[in-house]
Amino acid sequence: MHRTDEELLDYHARLANLEAGFYGEQRSDREFADFTIPHKHYLLHNLELLNPQGFPHQIDSVVFTLHFLLILEIKHITGQLFYKPGHHEFGRIRQNGTKENFSDPFEQAYRHKLLLEDMLCSWGTNLPVEYAVIITNQNAMLDSSLQGLPIFHVSGLRRSLHQLFAKYPEARLTEPALEKAGEQLLGAIQRTTPKRRVALDRLKKGVLCPSCDFQAAMHYTAGNWHCSACNKRDKKALLHALEDYRLLVSERITNKEFRDFTGIDSIQVASKILSRLGFEKVGDKRGRVYIIPEDCRKE
Ligand SMILES: [Zn+2]
Repeated sequence: MHRTDEELLDYHARLANLEAGFYGEQRSDREFADFTIPHKHYLLHNLELLNPQGFPHQIDSVVFTLHFLLILEIKHITGQLFYKPGHHEFGRIRQNGTKENFSDPFEQAYRHKLLLEDMLCSWGTNLPVEYAVIITNQNAMLDSSLQGLPIFHVSGLRRSLHQLFAKYPEARLTEPALEKAGEQLLGAIQRTTPKRRVALDRLKKGVLCPSCDFQAAMHYTAGNWHCSACNKRDKKALLHALEDYRLLVSERITNKEFRDFTGIDSIQVASKILSRLGFEKVGDKRGRVYIIPEDCRKE
């Protein structure tokens, strides 16, 4: 099959993205290697689980010990990080002053905690579940709004584990019970989950007009989405479209994929729209990938 340069570029973007994730994980692995947990434990990465309602959970890392289970939400972002708990708003301010929001990592980790508590309970395993958000980028600065929250640089992992062993001094599981529960957890991983995702060519493309029951495609003019069928303008229509894209195609979108999907011609206009959305970005320049958050319509 003939490969276009675009396809290759996209392939490299994906690869760069994978490597960023891998680097982050390796870094936390190194911190682990340097810290001997004085008991038998499991260290699991990239757990893909389904909750009873059929919704996916992607958990970065889990430290499974005889005393507790610790969920790690790993973030590779840089900049000055801040949090507004009342608004579940987690974001960063870059050196040049631009502000970006990310999906709330505490809320994500809490959601994972509830799932793992239920799973452990259903296996008859009574183990406290804790969580922490780990920052792997040394250039990230945590501002005072994050004080007292379970978030720290990866170098703080050792101390945090010490504190958890101090908080839960008694083993709640025997070693064989831990081994069994660890195997049950590994067995629950749904790596081969049939994805709801469909090929892009089977999907109705475009930003579809909510007022026209998503039958008419809207066009971007004068900074807004306009429907020529009903003549309405709707800023939120784009978020509907991206939510569909996330569910049906991928949670990652490049500038080119965005233009292809929305029908916007200009790279610059697409880039402007994408950066205004404030999604998490991975990679630089032409290889940049935007990550569509789960609750993108709520922003
Ligand atoms: Zn319309």
